[in-house]
Amino acid sequence: MNEKERVLSTIEEGDAIRLLRKLVQIPSRNPPGEERELAETVAAWLKDEGVDATLVPEPYAHRPQVVATIRGDEGRPTLVLNGHLDVVPLGAVERWSINPFGGEVKAGRLYGRGSCDMKGGLTAMMLAAKAITESGHRLRGNLLLHFAVGEETSEPGTKTLLLDKGYTGDWGIVLEPTNLKVVTAEKGLLWVDVEIRGKPAHASTPELGINPIEKAADFITRLRAYREKIGEKQHPLLGGAVCSVTMIEAGIKENVVPGSCKVTLDRRLLPGEDLGEVEAEIQAILSQIKQQDETFEGTISRRGEGFDAAEIPVDSYIAQVVKEAVKNVTGKIPQPSGAAYGTDARNFINDAHIPTIVFGPGDPAEAHTYDESIAISQVVVCSQILTLTSLKLLA
Ligand SMILES: [Zn+2]
Repeated sequence: MNEKERVLSTIEEGDAIRLLRKLVQIPSRNPPGEERELAETVAAWLKDEGVDATLVPEPYAHRPQVVATIRGDEGRPTLVLNGHLDVVPLGAVERWSINPFGGEVKAGRLYGRGSCDMKGGLTAMMLAAKAITESGHRLRGNLLLHFAVGEETSEPGTKTLLLDKGYTGDWGIVLEPTNLKVVTAEKGLLWVDVEIRGKPAHASTPELGINPIEKAADFITRLRAYREKIGEKQHPLLGGAVCSVTMIEAGIKENVVPGSCKVTLDRRLLPGEDLGEVEAEIQAILSQIKQQDETFEGTISRRGEGFDAAEIPVDSYIAQVVKEAVKNVTGKIPQPSGAAYGTDARNFINDAHIPTIVFGPGDPAEAHTYDESIAISQVVVCSQILTLTSLKLLA
């Protein structure tokens, strides 16, 4: 057995199950933002394994983040592994057939809220740090681990670590579930509210009012053509841009023509699309309706800031090294991949300008579901791939 094989052989399924179960059994739902206990547990576990770990009480004093470091030589490059501590709420509790915080294992899968998104990824990072430390193998470069808060609600957890606290590096791997695919591009996001104003009236004499729900129906119909148009822009890894109506709010009583109707849109952006331009595209639809119907009054406003798509070249060095490690561990060469959803990789790529991939265990289709689960074997394999990648990049 060579040195690398020896290190990899120390990453075992039993350890992965024990650690992942421990993490799943600590609820870290966000909202409300209850990551504290998990942060403290992660830091304590790492310290017990001889890995330097600190709590970072920023940007929120009561929701600490964790940063762990395996130090190499001064002036050598740094690889950052990033994961988030928070999980989404349970939704309708009665629809879970297992205890969401039990960490039950059945047929090679571990079940529970956050098992896939992304305590499986956290487990892979932590076991890799443990394996490298235990091996006594000295890295010349630095390995940095981020355990961020507030990812599920787009809070500035990772952004604070990178930009304000200086926990930055030369390459990044964000451990969101990708089924062990190497993701080099992800879509951006814009949410807008379109407020359509009408004129209230008694529903027995609707002709005296202007019904904003009917105006909204016209707007939503026109979105079909818009969707077709933006769907024609195609990205090789991400497919087309998309736009969905996700919320609609109107009405105060059965017999009242309401005064307004609010339609919320979720628009996913491709690399090269600009948030302001996309907002203007939607504004143009409203202006077009206004030209044909002067009683139409619609205004647009953003919900949150939105964010751009993020992309690095498919053949960038970090992607190549991870692909090579995947091949070494699994025997398979991963196909280039993109993600339709956003991750904290955008903070690495767009804000901190660090070449970064998204790569982690678990099927993204399991994220946020009832009876969420993850294949334990993927956690083990991912941890081995992270270890090999660290040994290669930081040798
Ligand atoms: Zn996630």
